[in-house]
Amino acid sequence: MRNRRAALAAVASAASLALTLSACGQNSEGGSKDKGGDAKGATIGIAMPTKSSERWIADGKNVVKDLEAKGYKTKLVYGEDDPDQQVSQIENLITQGVKGLIVAAIDNKSLNNVLQEAAEAKIPVIAYDRLILGTGNVDYYASFDNTKVGELQASYIVDKLGLKNGKGPFNIELFAGSNDDNNTKYFFNGAMSVLKPYIDSKKLVVRSGQTELTKVTTLRWDGATAQKRMDDILTSSYKSRRVDAVLSPYDGISIGILSSLKSDGYGSKSKPLPVVTGQDAELASVKSIIAGEQTQTVYKDTRKLADVASTMVDDVLHGKKPEVNDTKTYDNGSKVVPSYLLQPVSVDRTNYEDVLVKGGYYTAAELK
Ligand code: BGC
Repeated sequence: MRNRRAALAAVASAASLALTLSACGQNSEGGSKDKGGDAKGATIGIAMPTKSSERWIADGKNVVKDLEAKGYKTKLVYGEDDPDQQVSQIENLITQGVKGLIVAAIDNKSLNNVLQEAAEAKIPVIAYDRLILGTGNVDYYASFDNTKVGELQASYIVDKLGLKNGKGPFNIELFAGSNDDNNTKYFFNGAMSVLKPYIDSKKLVVRSGQTELTKVTTLRWDGATAQKRMDDILTSSYKSRRVDAVLSPYDGISIGILSSLKSDGYGSKSKPLPVVTGQDAELASVKSIIAGEQTQTVYKDTRKLADVASTMVDDVLHGKKPEVNDTKTYDNGSKVVPSYLLQPVSVDRTNYEDVLVKGGYYTAAELK
């Protein structure tokens, strides 16, 4: 009896080991042979940057949902805006035997070593929303037209101020995103391509004098950091002047800027708030737009982005070439990464219902 039990236990444990190995996507030779290997039931690792912003929470959920619908298992991790933590999370995912990786980088240059490990394990890597730089070990890039995001923000300011009708001069201040995020310069350069002619002709005046990207970045897209910078600018350059517009690259930064402006007395009849842009259509900012505080945001449908990225990984694992629509723009210093870029949409008080509510991104009740 005892022997039989022991024999049964041994069989069960061998079976469970086999199951574990196959769940990890490994075969008896210690790894899949190529990127088109047995995809069915494989686990895909998803590394997202932070839970401190709604958009990344939505991205994570949407990617998981899409991959599960395609028959995959998933492991979703958040790096809490700490590049080292993200590196060790990805290392763990590789050790756990994921068959594909979808990564939204925190620091675009910190992942080279860990992606080398992924390449050695023949794990395809999709850069999600943010391009990873300096490594050939990125297979595809799924994102939005990031230059267009900046153009939309800046064009909104130009239209709102009536610059095309010759109005001005107006005072503007410029904010950019985190300097370790590759998107930052695309957003900023896109915006500046629209604003610069007006700055050159002095129809737009940056009273702080801070116009270079290196002077206007906001580490980790932190709202409090932006608030502090806006406080300093208001004190140093606007004691006897009014700021008419603020280029803000992201809703969390816009909220910080608005807090600073409000504590300086903006938001009244005699001192109205300036035009303030944003990005991501986060709930708090859409509510702020409805309340007449933030002026605009750029909506990027994360459901579509999740679909593109999970389809890319699924295609690669089935030995199929994913669909791309840009093979020129995103040179990461090691190669031009084939990309699929989605279209961002400018949203303000006039169209939020059409775009966000009718589009099913928020319910009318959520925006109350
Ligand atoms: C994303 C933006 C987001 C920002 C801050 C960027 O990489 O493209 O959508 O606002 O990160 O999270």
